[in-house]
Amino acid sequence: MGKAERLDVSGVHLPLLALGPGVRLGVWTQGCPLACPGCMSRHTWDPSGGTRVPVAELLELWERALRHGAQGITVSGGEPCEQPAPLGALLRGADVLRGESWVRPAPDGGAPDLLVYTGYEEDELTAEQREALAPADAVVTGRFRIAEPTDLVWRGSANQRMLPRTELGRLRYGPHLTRERERHEGLQVVVGRRAADGTWPTRWYGIPRPGELARWKREGAQHGLPVSSPSWRP
Ligand code: SF4
Repeated sequence: MGKAERLDVSGVHLPLLALGPGVRLGVWTQGCPLACPGCMSRHTWDPSGGTRVPVAELLELWERALRHGAQGITVSGGEPCEQPAPLGALLRGADVLRGESWVRPAPDGGAPDLLVYTGYEEDELTAEQREALAPADAVVTGRFRIAEPTDLVWRGSANQRMLPRTELGRLRYGPHLTRERERHEGLQVVVGRRAADGTWPTRWYGIPRPGELARWKREGAQHGLPVSSPSWRP
């Protein structure tokens, strides 16, 4: 158990600039049974998709992120709580590593933080899931509800709650609980290398405003960059 665990992962990204404060490591788990209408991460739903990654490998990535001054790790999905054992191993390992003497503090003087997104409400979590989340400094809870748009930073719909759970979580996330996102805090767009078929694999990280993905698609087509096979459509 522990670091020998493997997590089914949809993707990782460093530097992540869109889900939490500062420069972060992003880890997206694979598999989500919640099927929120309008989910922009449909490619993460299938539990048999993704890649089984040893937690030790993800922790090596976290160590690299810390050595480059990362301010935190964001674990999202998919549904991270569907894999409580490896999720717990990842968070506990990340917690230990951030305590190393060489780790640089964040601009607010605190340590790098651990943020987790779950589509479950707090009272839906099992004892095992709660235990897995124990090291997290903040958790964003609740399904994505397309009919309840919000401008609250780092949340996809107005029902979702950002819950600081530690002293560091209150320091880092307390000022953002009711803050609306700034114009620059939308999506992070990362364009990969041109593929052999001439397409440009593109990833969008973060939480789009209502209609933002459709606008990207429309404007991309107008500028000769059509969006094909978007992951937010079945
Ligand atoms: S929005 Fe999140 S919780 Fe809802 S279906 Fe998509 S991945 Fe799952």
